[in-house]
Amino acid sequence: MTVATAVRSETSSAREGLAAIFMVAAIGIGIVALTGHVQASALHDAAHDVRHATGFPCH
Ligand SMILES: [Zn+2]
Repeated sequence: MTVATAVRSETSSAREGLAAIFMVAAIGIGIVALTGHVQASALHDAAHDVRHATGFPCH
């Protein structure tokens, strides 16, 4: 591997890491915005269904 290809691959992976951070941040902000505007009962029912689906003791 030459120095030029090493630098190029390093730049490419750093760019991919940055893209991943932006992607995760967008998903996180989307979830927060969605759960902030959804009806509380709908959110509760969804959380309740997930709890049952994962086998977590509930009631
Ligand atoms: Zn339950």
